[in-house]
Amino acid sequence: MKCPFCDAEMLHGYLNCGNAIWSERKHKISTLPDTKEKYAFHLGTPLLSPHHVACDCCPSCKRLIVDTSDYENNLG
Ligand SMILES: [Zn+2]
Repeated sequence: MKCPFCDAEMLHGYLNCGNAIWSERKHKISTLPDTKEKYAFHLGTPLLSPHHVACDCCPSCKRLIVDTSDYENNLG
């Protein structure tokens, strides 16, 4: 796919990561969401190997684009 920011051809690959959350707020200790915040892309601590999140990376402007629709969220 083309990068929507700079139009370069993006590289397809995987975000190899441990626990993670996208949230409206900064988490200082854990990545567990509370009942008040909006969150998406909640990944628990991996048991055996890192999570492998398919995504695209722009080799020019270095942005990542992640489709988080299949991951835990409370965005509705
Ligand atoms: Zn780009």
